[in-house]
Amino acid sequence: MRLVMLGPPGAGKGTQAMLLEAKLGAPQIASGDLLRSAVRSRTALGVEAKRFMDKGALVPDDLVLQLIDDRLREPDAAGGFILDGFPRTVSQAETLGRMLAARKQALDKVVAIVLPDEEIIKRISGRRTCKNCGAMYHLIFDPPRNHNLCNKCNGELYQRDDDAEDTVRMRLQVYAGSTRPLLDYYGRLGLLVQVEGTGRADEVQRRIVAGLGVTESGSGAGLKP
Ligand code: AMP
Repeated sequence: MRLVMLGPPGAGKGTQAMLLEAKLGAPQIASGDLLRSAVRSRTALGVEAKRFMDKGALVPDDLVLQLIDDRLREPDAAGGFILDGFPRTVSQAETLGRMLAARKQALDKVVAIVLPDEEIIKRISGRRTCKNCGAMYHLIFDPPRNHNLCNKCNGELYQRDDDAEDTVRMRLQVYAGSTRPLLDYYGRLGLLVQVEGTGRADEVQRRIVAGLGVTESGSGAGLKP
């Protein structure tokens, strides 16, 4: 099962991709996580990428494509994956199509989560991330058990630099200009499943599962033909 999750920042792509990972047994591959990990390790790529991420701008394609290509070559992605945050432009989508075609693979579906801008800003301003393991929380919707500490690893929680309100507005503009055209692109390819992103995470997940037509059988989950 090869899926792409699309949607504006804060629409819940990451949460939904994680829930799907458990259901489908295919790894979630988040370009933002790969980039933040490179930033934390202070690799040359990470140092370069940080300049763009801090402004809420897109990181240049050559840097992102290198990370994604390497990640897709890892054995756990051979049978499928859930891409989260990539592709973000039509040009990245075309490159992804070529990368997969070279391996005689193709995407099965593209899930687009739809949410109004004001709801996004409300959600993102309460978002906190674990410095240590990257787990995400929300001060109102999904608070940590201990104030400011991760439930999983006790790491300190922080607000991502690019989750500040001004930067979020910039990221929404980037989404509207560069990423939203992907809805038409994948719509034309007959791959698009659009899902309303309001409500609780489990409700959104149910809509996604219904939209994908995921069946759960003894041998695991699959897509209905
Ligand atoms: P995310 O965690 O998906 O919201 O991504 C955080 C930031 O990483 C974005 O605002 C971009 O600066 C950068 N980024 C993530 N994915 C991509 C991508 N596919 N292309 C370019 N930049 C990206």
